[in-house]
Amino acid sequence: MTDKSDLWANGIDTTRPSIARAYDVVLNGKDNFEVDRAFVAEIVKVVPEIYDVATYNRQILGRGVRLLAERGITQFIDLGSGLPTVENTHHVAQRANPDSHVVYVDNDPMVLAHGRAILAENDRTGVVTSDLRDPAAILSDETVKRLIDLDRPVGLMLVGILHHLHDSEDPKGIVDAYMAAIPSGSYLFITHFCSATQDARDAEKKFLALLGTGRFRTPEEITGFFDGFELLEPGVVPLPLWRPDDTVPEVLSVGQRLMYGGIARKP
Ligand code: SAM
Repeated sequence: MTDKSDLWANGIDTTRPSIARAYDVVLNGKDNFEVDRAFVAEIVKVVPEIYDVATYNRQILGRGVRLLAERGITQFIDLGSGLPTVENTHHVAQRANPDSHVVYVDNDPMVLAHGRAILAENDRTGVVTSDLRDPAAILSDETVKRLIDLDRPVGLMLVGILHHLHDSEDPKGIVDAYMAAIPSGSYLFITHFCSATQDARDAEKKFLALLGTGRFRTPEEITGFFDGFELLEPGVVPLPLWRPDDTVPEVLSVGQRLMYGGIARKP
Protein backbone atom coordinates (compact mmCIF):
# COMPACT_ATOMS: atom_id res chain seq x y z
CA MET A 1 0.00 0.00 0.00
CA THR A 2 2.33 2.74 -1.22
CA ASP A 3 0.09 4.80 -3.54
CA LYS A 4 -1.02 8.03 -1.81
CA SER A 5 -4.65 7.72 -2.98
CA ASP A 6 -4.79 4.16 -1.61
CA LEU A 7 -3.51 5.44 1.72
CA TRP A 8 -6.13 8.18 1.91
CA ALA A 9 -8.85 5.74 0.86
CA ASN A 10 -7.85 3.60 3.83
CA GLY A 11 -7.99 6.57 6.21
CA ILE A 12 -4.22 6.85 6.51
CA ASP A 13 -3.04 10.46 6.87
CA THR A 14 0.61 10.83 5.83
CA THR A 15 0.72 14.55 6.61
CA ARG A 16 0.69 14.14 10.38
CA PRO A 17 2.60 11.71 12.60
CA SER A 18 0.57 8.82 14.00
CA ILE A 19 1.25 7.21 17.37
CA ALA A 20 1.33 3.71 15.89
CA ARG A 21 3.69 4.63 13.05
CA ALA A 22 6.00 6.70 15.29
CA TYR A 23 6.24 3.70 17.61
CA ASP A 24 7.04 1.57 14.57
CA VAL A 25 9.95 3.97 13.85
CA VAL A 26 11.49 3.44 17.30
CA LEU A 27 11.05 -0.32 16.93
CA ASN A 28 13.00 -0.07 13.64
CA GLY A 29 9.92 -1.13 11.66
CA LYS A 30 9.12 -0.30 8.03
CA ASP A 31 5.48 0.79 8.33
CA ASN A 32 6.07 4.52 8.77
CA PHE A 33 6.43 7.73 6.78
CA GLU A 34 8.74 10.76 6.72
CA VAL A 35 6.41 12.72 9.00
CA ASP A 36 6.65 9.95 11.65
CA ARG A 37 10.45 9.82 11.40
CA ALA A 38 10.57 13.64 11.75
CA PHE A 39 8.52 13.39 14.96
CA VAL A 40 10.86 10.75 16.39
CA ALA A 41 13.86 12.92 15.44
CA GLU A 42 12.36 15.67 17.64
CA ILE A 43 11.93 13.24 20.56
CA VAL A 44 15.52 11.99 20.14
CA LYS A 45 16.68 15.57 20.79
CA VAL A 46 15.29 15.43 24.34
CA VAL A 47 15.48 11.67 25.00
CA PRO A 48 18.33 10.20 22.93
CA GLU A 49 17.54 6.75 24.36
CA ILE A 50 13.96 6.65 23.01
CA TYR A 51 14.71 3.62 20.79
CA ASP A 52 15.89 1.71 23.88
CA VAL A 53 12.72 2.76 25.73
CA ALA A 54 10.60 1.08 23.05
CA THR A 55 12.67 -2.06 23.47
CA TYR A 56 12.18 -2.01 27.27
CA ASN A 57 8.45 -1.68 26.66
CA ARG A 58 8.33 -4.65 24.30
CA GLN A 59 10.44 -6.66 26.73
CA ILE A 60 8.12 -6.05 29.69
CA LEU A 61 5.16 -6.86 27.44
CA GLY A 62 6.71 -10.27 26.84
CA ARG A 63 7.56 -10.83 30.51
CA GLY A 64 4.10 -9.72 31.61
CA VAL A 65 2.19 -11.91 29.17
CA ARG A 66 4.42 -14.84 30.09
CA LEU A 67 3.68 -14.33 33.80
CA LEU A 68 -0.07 -14.13 33.17
CA ALA A 69 0.12 -17.30 31.08
CA GLU A 70 1.94 -19.02 33.96
CA ARG A 71 -0.91 -17.89 36.20
CA GLY A 72 -3.39 -19.62 33.93
CA ILE A 73 -4.63 -16.71 31.82
CA THR A 74 -5.56 -17.95 28.35
CA GLN A 75 -7.44 -14.91 26.99
CA PHE A 76 -6.05 -11.43 26.43
CA ILE A 77 -7.50 -8.13 25.27
CA ASP A 78 -4.58 -5.99 24.08
CA LEU A 79 -5.82 -2.39 23.94
CA GLY A 80 -3.74 0.02 21.82
CA SER A 81 -1.82 -2.96 20.47
CA GLY A 82 0.19 -1.08 17.83
CA LEU A 83 1.49 -2.26 14.47
CA PRO A 84 2.57 -5.87 14.40
CA THR A 85 6.18 -6.36 15.38
CA VAL A 86 8.19 -9.30 16.70
CA GLU A 87 6.95 -11.21 19.76
CA ASN A 88 3.38 -9.94 19.67
CA THR A 89 1.06 -10.87 22.53
CA HIS A 90 -0.34 -13.96 20.81
CA HIS A 91 3.15 -15.30 20.06
CA VAL A 92 4.04 -15.23 23.76
CA ALA A 93 0.64 -16.39 25.02
CA GLN A 94 0.24 -19.21 22.48
CA ARG A 95 3.78 -20.42 23.07
CA ALA A 96 2.78 -20.98 26.70
CA ASN A 97 -0.66 -22.32 25.82
CA PRO A 98 -1.54 -22.87 22.14
CA ASP A 99 -5.24 -22.49 22.92
CA SER A 100 -4.82 -18.90 24.17
CA HIS A 101 -7.12 -16.35 22.60
CA VAL A 102 -5.93 -12.80 21.87
CA VAL A 103 -7.85 -9.78 20.55
CA TYR A 104 -5.86 -6.76 19.43
CA VAL A 105 -7.62 -3.39 19.53
CA ASP A 106 -6.25 -0.25 17.88
CA ASN A 107 -7.81 2.79 16.24
CA ASP A 108 -5.07 3.34 13.66
CA PRO A 109 -6.11 2.21 10.15
CA MET A 110 -2.52 1.09 9.44
CA VAL A 111 -2.84 -1.47 12.22
CA LEU A 112 -5.84 -3.00 10.48
CA ALA A 113 -4.15 -2.88 7.08
CA HIS A 114 -0.95 -4.56 8.26
CA GLY A 115 -2.35 -6.35 11.26
CA ARG A 116 -5.02 -8.52 9.73
CA ALA A 117 -2.60 -10.78 7.91
CA ILE A 118 0.06 -10.98 10.60
CA LEU A 119 -1.84 -10.71 13.86
CA ALA A 120 -4.89 -12.70 12.90
CA GLU A 121 -2.76 -15.57 11.69
CA ASN A 122 -4.83 -18.23 13.38
CA ASP A 123 -8.43 -18.62 14.49
CA ARG A 124 -7.53 -17.76 18.10
CA THR A 125 -6.44 -14.17 17.37
CA GLY A 126 -8.38 -11.21 16.02
CA VAL A 127 -7.93 -7.53 15.23
CA VAL A 128 -10.54 -4.89 16.04
CA THR A 129 -10.24 -1.34 14.69
CA SER A 130 -11.95 0.69 17.34
CA ASP A 131 -11.43 3.39 19.92
CA LEU A 132 -10.52 1.94 23.30
CA ARG A 133 -12.17 4.92 25.01
CA ASP A 134 -15.51 3.21 24.34
CA PRO A 135 -15.38 0.07 26.53
CA ALA A 136 -19.03 -0.82 25.87
CA ALA A 137 -18.45 -0.86 22.10
CA ILE A 138 -15.25 -2.92 22.41
CA LEU A 139 -16.77 -5.44 24.81
CA SER A 140 -19.78 -6.00 22.57
CA ASP A 141 -17.72 -6.19 19.36
CA GLU A 142 -18.34 -9.42 17.39
CA THR A 143 -14.65 -10.41 17.31
CA VAL A 144 -14.31 -9.86 21.05
CA LYS A 145 -17.48 -11.84 21.70
CA ARG A 146 -16.29 -14.70 19.47
CA LEU A 147 -12.82 -14.97 21.03
CA ILE A 148 -13.18 -13.82 24.63
CA ASP A 149 -15.41 -15.46 27.24
CA LEU A 150 -16.11 -12.61 29.64
CA ASP A 151 -17.16 -15.11 32.31
CA ARG A 152 -13.58 -16.41 32.54
CA PRO A 153 -10.49 -14.42 33.70
CA VAL A 154 -8.96 -12.09 31.11
CA GLY A 155 -5.58 -10.40 30.83
CA LEU A 156 -6.47 -6.76 30.10
CA MET A 157 -3.53 -4.94 28.57
CA LEU A 158 -3.05 -1.17 28.35
CA VAL A 159 0.61 -1.24 27.46
CA GLY A 160 2.09 2.08 26.34
CA ILE A 161 -1.25 3.75 25.76
CA LEU A 162 -2.77 5.51 28.79
CA HIS A 163 -0.35 8.46 28.47
CA HIS A 164 -2.21 9.26 25.23
CA LEU A 165 -5.42 9.88 27.22
CA HIS A 166 -5.96 13.26 28.85
CA ASP A 167 -7.41 13.50 32.35
CA SER A 168 -10.59 14.98 30.83
CA GLU A 169 -11.14 11.64 29.07
CA ASP A 170 -11.34 9.91 32.47
CA PRO A 171 -8.71 7.20 31.88
CA LYS A 172 -9.30 5.63 35.31
CA GLY A 173 -13.02 5.42 34.55
CA ILE A 174 -12.19 3.68 31.26
CA VAL A 175 -9.87 1.19 33.01
CA ASP A 176 -12.52 0.49 35.64
CA ALA A 177 -15.24 -0.04 33.01
CA TYR A 178 -13.18 -2.82 31.40
CA MET A 179 -12.24 -4.32 34.77
CA ALA A 180 -15.89 -4.30 35.90
CA ALA A 181 -16.82 -6.40 32.85
CA ILE A 182 -14.32 -9.19 33.56
CA PRO A 183 -14.37 -11.59 36.51
CA SER A 184 -12.33 -12.01 39.66
CA GLY A 185 -8.94 -13.53 38.85
CA SER A 186 -8.51 -11.25 35.80
CA TYR A 187 -5.41 -9.08 35.50
CA LEU A 188 -4.68 -5.47 34.57
CA PHE A 189 -1.34 -4.81 32.84
CA ILE A 190 -0.23 -1.18 32.36
CA THR A 191 2.92 0.57 31.17
CA HIS A 192 3.02 4.35 31.06
CA PHE A 193 5.35 7.30 30.41
CA CYS A 194 6.41 8.80 33.73
CA SER A 195 6.89 12.52 34.31
CA ALA A 196 9.51 12.08 37.05
CA THR A 197 12.47 13.61 35.13
CA GLN A 198 12.95 16.92 33.29
CA ASP A 199 13.77 15.03 30.08
CA ALA A 200 10.43 13.25 30.36
CA ARG A 201 8.60 16.53 30.84
CA ASP A 202 10.38 17.94 27.75
CA ALA A 203 9.35 14.86 25.77
CA GLU A 204 5.78 15.27 27.01
CA LYS A 205 5.69 18.83 25.60
CA LYS A 206 6.84 17.53 22.19
CA PHE A 207 4.20 14.77 22.26
CA LEU A 208 1.52 17.34 22.97
CA ALA A 209 2.71 19.80 20.34
CA LEU A 210 3.30 17.29 17.54
CA LEU A 211 0.88 14.42 18.25
CA GLY A 212 -1.84 16.29 20.12
CA THR A 213 -1.69 13.76 22.96
CA GLY A 214 0.62 13.36 25.90
CA ARG A 215 -0.08 13.20 29.60
CA PHE A 216 2.94 11.73 31.33
CA ARG A 217 2.09 10.84 34.93
CA THR A 218 3.92 10.54 38.25
CA PRO A 219 4.59 7.09 39.72
CA GLU A 220 1.77 7.78 42.21
CA GLU A 221 -0.67 8.69 39.44
CA ILE A 222 0.26 5.57 37.47
CA THR A 223 -0.16 3.46 40.62
CA GLY A 224 -3.60 5.04 41.03
CA PHE A 225 -4.83 3.22 37.91
CA PHE A 226 -4.51 0.00 39.92
CA ASP A 227 -6.69 1.24 42.82
CA GLY A 228 -9.18 -1.48 43.70
CA PHE A 229 -6.88 -4.30 42.50
CA GLU A 230 -4.06 -6.34 44.07
CA LEU A 231 -0.71 -5.13 42.72
CA LEU A 232 1.76 -7.92 42.11
CA GLU A 233 5.35 -7.53 43.32
CA PRO A 234 7.37 -5.39 42.73
CA GLY A 235 4.53 -2.87 42.26
CA VAL A 236 4.71 -0.01 39.76
CA VAL A 237 8.39 0.46 38.87
CA PRO A 238 10.64 1.55 35.97
CA LEU A 239 10.26 -1.04 33.21
CA PRO A 240 13.70 -2.70 33.51
CA LEU A 241 13.06 -3.29 37.25
CA TRP A 242 9.80 -5.19 36.74
CA ARG A 243 10.63 -8.89 37.22
CA PRO A 244 13.79 -8.66 35.06
CA ASP A 245 15.15 -11.68 33.23
CA ASP A 246 18.67 -10.25 33.45
CA THR A 247 20.58 -8.32 36.10
CA VAL A 248 19.80 -4.60 36.10
CA PRO A 249 22.22 -1.72 36.66
CA GLU A 250 22.22 -0.18 40.14
CA VAL A 251 21.70 3.31 38.73
CA LEU A 252 19.13 3.62 35.96
CA SER A 253 19.57 5.98 33.00
CA VAL A 254 16.96 8.58 32.02
CA GLY A 255 15.64 6.23 29.35
CA GLN A 256 15.38 3.34 31.78
CA ARG A 257 13.23 5.54 34.07
CA LEU A 258 11.09 7.03 31.30
CA MET A 259 8.33 4.43 31.56
CA TYR A 260 6.85 2.63 34.54
CA GLY A 261 4.74 -0.48 34.57
CA GLY A 262 2.93 -2.97 36.73
CA ILE A 263 0.36 -5.75 36.86
CA ALA A 264 -2.50 -6.23 39.29
CA ARG A 265 -5.06 -8.96 39.92
CA LYS A 266 -8.77 -8.35 40.27
CA PRO A 267 -9.73 -9.78 43.69
N1 SAM B 1 0.77 -1.74 23.11
C1 SAM B 1 1.85 -1.71 22.14
C2 SAM B 1 3.15 -1.77 22.88
O1 SAM B 1 3.22 -1.28 24.00
O2 SAM B 1 4.14 -2.26 22.33
C3 SAM B 1 1.77 -0.49 21.23
C4 SAM B 1 1.84 0.83 21.92
S1 SAM B 1 1.76 2.21 20.82
C5 SAM B 1 2.83 3.30 21.62
C6 SAM B 1 0.14 2.86 21.24
C7 SAM B 1 -0.95 2.39 20.30
O3 SAM B 1 -2.21 2.84 20.80
C8 SAM B 1 -0.84 2.94 18.90
O4 SAM B 1 -0.83 1.87 17.97
C9 SAM B 1 -2.07 3.81 18.69
O5 SAM B 1 -2.59 3.76 17.38
C10 SAM B 1 -3.02 3.21 19.71
N2 SAM B 1 -4.05 4.14 20.18
C11 SAM B 1 -3.90 5.43 20.55
N3 SAM B 1 -5.07 5.94 20.95
C12 SAM B 1 -5.99 4.95 20.83
C13 SAM B 1 -7.39 4.87 21.07
N4 SAM B 1 -8.07 5.91 21.54
N5 SAM B 1 -8.03 3.69 20.82
C14 SAM B 1 -7.34 2.62 20.34
N6 SAM B 1 -6.00 2.65 20.10
C15 SAM B 1 -5.34 3.79 20.33
